[in-house]
Amino acid sequence: MNNKGKFIVFEGIDGSGKGTQIKKLQKYFEQRGIKTITTCEHTRDLPVGKLIETTVNGGEKMDPLALQLCFTADRRDHYEKVIRPALENGEFVISDRYYGSTVAYTEEDKRQMMLELNENVVPKADLTFFLDIEIDMAIKRIDDVRLSKTIFERKEKLEQCRNSYLWFCEKVGESVIIIDGNRDIETIHKDILEKLKSKKII
Ligand code: ADP
Repeated sequence: MNNKGKFIVFEGIDGSGKGTQIKKLQKYFEQRGIKTITTCEHTRDLPVGKLIETTVNGGEKMDPLALQLCFTADRRDHYEKVIRPALENGEFVISDRYYGSTVAYTEEDKRQMMLELNENVVPKADLTFFLDIEIDMAIKRIDDVRLSKTIFERKEKLEQCRNSYLWFCEKVGESVIIIDGNRDIETIHKDILEKLKSKKII
């Protein structure tokens, strides 16, 4: 990759604080004159993203693996249309979820295959943060804010996802950093900045 920009990804279960930290990081970069775009999976405006949107919001049921293949297709399209051009233009891109999420939301016996598939269809991020949080705390945060829950936000599912995320972190090694997301917003933000500096991203 000959990108001039940097691609940073946040992973974590719903309620782990991804959106909150992304906003703070974007503000930090912008204040230092670094043009930064934030993106979110799934897309809402690309063809496969639209299909995912109706499915996860209770539309026609889809086989779970088929759904994750849709996420992968949407990711590829999103990368080529939005992320790659921004990086080539020297911008920073912060994404709320990337292929760690596909691994986390795929059944155990298929996750290795989905990891390999994704590694072949989209480039790696420069750095991925996995915000690790206790399930009960995530649920409390979600309940505080959201009235309706998507199919991904049930407790059992969240537990499974967390375990798969930890499996993902072990598999991909140094390109992902586990952040303790149970702490307060400012402490986490400072920790993230430290990690970005130590990895020479900023
Ligand atoms: P995610 O994007 O991972 O689903 P959000 O950033 O939307 O998570 O956070 C979910 C809720 O939890 C929001 O109301 C947010 O203000 C709150 N929140 C996020 N991080 C923290 C934190 N470190 N401590 C307490 N509340 C938090």
